[in-house]
Amino acid sequence: MNVFSSPARGSGPVVHNFNAGPSILPKEVFEQAAAAVLNYNNTGLSLLEIGHRTPLFQEVMDEARALVKELMQLDDAHEVLFLHGGASTQFMQVPMNLLDDRDCAAFADTGVWSSKAIKEAKLFGKVEIVCSSREGGFSYIPKDFAVPNDAKYLHITTNNTIYGSQWQQIPKTSNPLVADMSSDIFSRVLDFNAFDLIYAGAQKNMGPAGVNLVVVNKNILGKTKRNIPTIMDYRNHIKEGSMLNTPPVFAIYVCMLTLRWLKSKGGIAAIEKLNNEKAALLYNAIDRNPIFTGTINKEDRSKMNACFVMKSPELEAEFLQYTTEHGIVGIKGHRLVGGFRASLYNALPISSVKVLVELMDSFASQHQ
Ligand SMILES: *Cc1c(COP(=O)(O)O)cnc(C)c1O
Repeated sequence: MNVFSSPARGSGPVVHNFNAGPSILPKEVFEQAAAAVLNYNNTGLSLLEIGHRTPLFQEVMDEARALVKELMQLDDAHEVLFLHGGASTQFMQVPMNLLDDRDCAAFADTGVWSSKAIKEAKLFGKVEIVCSSREGGFSYIPKDFAVPNDAKYLHITTNNTIYGSQWQQIPKTSNPLVADMSSDIFSRVLDFNAFDLIYAGAQKNMGPAGVNLVVVNKNILGKTKRNIPTIMDYRNHIKEGSMLNTPPVFAIYVCMLTLRWLKSKGGIAAIEKLNNEKAALLYNAIDRNPIFTGTINKEDRSKMNACFVMKSPELEAEFLQYTTEHGIVGIKGHRLVGGFRASLYNALPISSVKVLVELMDSFASQHQ
């Protein structure tokens, strides 16, 4: 296969999709999802017109939850829920369930999403920011910090989608550990049982926007005195098998298909190996071409979102146009950061990274 081509979808143009979110999903997942909207499993019915409590949908929910347990190797204390809303809903739902007004929660402040989680937690209790890379423009992950013993939990954002930094070591703490894993869920092997609550919006590595994956250790629930609205209380969702009300059926179905795809590829360990290769290809291209500069401390670089700028900012528009002409989509940096961000999520083929890297090399050689 020519390195400048990748299979086009249907009759559309050849594209290499580096979007940060919503972002690329496996081609076969799109095909199966499209087919299920027209005729779900040869029932003559669309997936979108069947009752969520029918066996037809129940088996989707059961398989999706079981695949999460299996892929993450979760123990019996950890419950898997698919809940409405984006990760931003969890910014409020987590403290509502875990924090009383007088309690304190510890937060690592490592970027835009951490800051938003902090803002919401303050509505429910006290917040102690135990470390921050704000002064350094969020260009690194803080290393040495202490968490107060009485903090109800420590919250981290494992991958900072906008700045492109990632916790390579998960901090060890005796406090319950809560993580926003929206942009690196299922991308690398971690001891997931070491977390007491993990949440992730689906649209980065899992499925369509509109559903959250929540993995929660049930032993940390039920300890606040607050009256929690029914739909916000994780315990009610656990009791009802993640079917307290009508779940976002299509989004969950697509997540299930992506999880099946991940399992068929060898699971998280196998995809992590590929993700490491993809990230190494791209960061090597940034580092060997002096016209590009990585914006994040090397050891803290994200394997999911690679951010870089050009030494001569006036070349950025030209580089963007050059890559766009060759089918590269979605590498313009976030409006807060500028420059470029190439997102390397699980479903992005390594062939797409090779195309981008060749374009970087050839552009660099034309602009010595
Ligand atoms: C995208 C993202 C969010 C926000 O997700 P929504 O579904 O838009 O609420 C939160 N945290 C992280 C780390 C993200 O990447």
